Amino acid sequence: MLKWLLLGALAALFYFWLKRPKIVSPPFRSQPRISEPLKIVPCAYCGVHLPAQDGLLHDARFYCCQAHANALDPAGWYGQANWRPSPNFDSRPDGMQPELVLLHHISLPPGQFGQNYISDFFQNKLDQAAHPYFAEIAEQKVSSHFLIDRNGLITQFVSAQKRAWHAGVSNFFGREQCNDFAIGVELEGDGETIFTDAQYVALAQLLKVLAGVYTNLRFAGHSDVAPARKTDPGIYFDWQRLQRENHLRPDQLPFGLAFRV
Ligand SMILES: [Zn+2]
Ligand SMILES: [Zn+2]
Repeated sequence: MLKWLLLGALAALFYFWLKRPKIVSPPFRSQPRISEPLKIVPCAYCGVHLPAQDGLLHDARFYCCQAHANALDPAGWYGQANWRPSPNFDSRPDGMQPELVLLHHISLPPGQFGQNYISDFFQNKLDQAAHPYFAEIAEQKVSSHFLIDRNGLITQFVSAQKRAWHAGVSNFFGREQCNDFAIGVELEGDGETIFTDAQYVALAQLLKVLAGVYTNLRFAGHSDVAPARKTDPGIYFDWQRLQRENHLRPDQLPFGLAFRV
């Protein structure tokens, strides 16, 4: 009899153990419960659509292949540059293509490198309070197509097909208004410091792409076309190195190879 009572008690205990309140644990969340939708993006060069994960990402743009990432796109924007569009541009005269690469130097504040003030200046966003010199220039509406900083990073502000505002009053062998037919390339520099290897490497990379699109390019400094006003790119720009690294013919460098201001 006692044996049956014990068995009954054990069965009751087992029953209540099975029916005990369960502690609910939070659901296991290492995987998202709803899978992320596939992000489809256009190639910034050709427009073909592809999953973002398959694209080459540069400066928040996607490219379908390395060749398109390395090219000047049909709208005149260079895939390897960071794009910081400037409002300071207009159209080239009808049918006019770039024929001249005009080299400059710039530093902001003057003599200081490595900050974002040049981009801000070309985008009309310069903070006048940041430096006394900025109050003098903040209202100027200027731009260039490209800037190459001391580390060789290339920034583009204006499509190569459009007219950027970098040359001012200028004369190239009797042709005035060089902005009409020039591509402006600013090198971060101050006229008192040699340019860096990274800048020459980036310049050669950029010029190779431009020469592939615009086949009649010649090269000059801002001081060559505006000698009374300008001294850039200055005495430290190595024209011989430019010629050597870009395999330029003598007629493409009509002002010669000498260091000059
Ligand atoms: Zn593409
Ligand atoms: Zn200049």
